[in-house]
Amino acid sequence: MAKKKKNSPYLAVALTLCVLAVGLAVAIAVLAISETALPPVAESSSQAVTEESDPSVEERSEEPSHGESFEPDISLPEESSEESIPEPLPEPEPGLGGEIPQLGSTREYESYIGLRYSVDLVQFEKYIDPADASEYLLLVSPKAPLGKDYVPDDLIYIEDMRAGRPSYYSYLREYAEKALEAFLDEAAMYGHGDIKVSNGYRSYSVQSTLFNNYLADERARHPDWTEERIYALVATYSNPPGTSEHQSGLCVDMHNQIDTNNTFDGTPAAIWLEENCYRFGFVLRYPADKQDVTGIKYESWHFRYVGRTAATEMHELGMCLEEYLEYKGLN
Ligand SMILES: [Zn+2]
Repeated sequence: MAKKKKNSPYLAVALTLCVLAVGLAVAIAVLAISETALPPVAESSSQAVTEESDPSVEERSEEPSHGESFEPDISLPEESSEESIPEPLPEPEPGLGGEIPQLGSTREYESYIGLRYSVDLVQFEKYIDPADASEYLLLVSPKAPLGKDYVPDDLIYIEDMRAGRPSYYSYLREYAEKALEAFLDEAAMYGHGDIKVSNGYRSYSVQSTLFNNYLADERARHPDWTEERIYALVATYSNPPGTSEHQSGLCVDMHNQIDTNNTFDGTPAAIWLEENCYRFGFVLRYPADKQDVTGIKYESWHFRYVGRTAATEMHELGMCLEEYLEYKGLN
């Protein structure tokens, strides 16, 4: 009796320790798995504003006199074609805190991230990974607008432009455009060859014209409203001039849908672009989980060029551009 009574507290302690140990092991395993899990494609919240691509906005923003000729036979995105995906390198050494290999070292970079490029990067690498990327980290937002005189001096025509788009949406800065060519060539090799650009550079004056047209439309629709109320309404679906990132000439809207809208979200093509953009110097500019930081609703189609080193760091750190600039002390 006495012996039995004496032992039971020890037994209880031993059992408790066992349970704690098992619990700790499970927690460590869960953490390890979540580290390697794919980024979730979350539902949008409704607090943030749209960047500029409300579907009706995009359609209305075309040259009215020319009409819009959307490609009639746009096919649905293919299921991800596993067989065309190249084998990862045998001993990948990805990891935060390592030195991201710089210009001219494709092999080292591939080893670093643990994935080979399928496209031949020889003619593209200097654009994907510019020697000085600082000018490509430009922040443009409603809080950091561009002046009306800001016009990039190295705009070139976008090779992968969707048919029928107006010429004034069809340009991009040189380095971003060349990097984009490699990015979309790679996408095609993974079975996503139907992704095309619907919007590139947009000048202050084009944005201004668009915005003013919307103001006029809404004034006609609500003749008894104040000018402030009209402006506030239009600002929920169109960017006031100077505040659209498209004026930087460093971003594109691209997808394989009829127009820019949420039907692209979560498709194999959208997921592939989001997971691979950093390898080509791009970031998904308005991620679903950063709406409170960017102030812009999730846009699965809007990609911003920042150069490969910054894009890779942002990918590893899980940061959007605003957070990254803050982290680097560049804001
Ligand atoms: Zn956009």
